[in-house]
Amino acid sequence: MQTTIKSPHQHSQRLIARGDFASVHRCECGGIQLTIGALTLRLTTAALLSLTATLEEAAGNCEQAGPARALTSFQRGDA
Ligand SMILES: [Zn+2]
Repeated sequence: MQTTIKSPHQHSQRLIARGDFASVHRCECGGIQLTIGALTLRLTTAALLSLTATLEEAAGNCEQAGPARALTSFQRGDA
């Protein structure tokens, strides 16, 4: 597994997390690079923490709705 890459601004980045759908690198300048498929976002640490809180809230709300109900809402296009 490659854990260090060069960012577009030529800073070294170290892999700090990897999941099935996303990976996160930390740049030597302190920036965070979040990659989800072909999408890459450069974030501050504060933005990463805020995004994490938002996703945790969304995941909690999905669990409350239940998987079948969430899928039904998604299929209707009103999710
Ligand atoms: Zn950097």
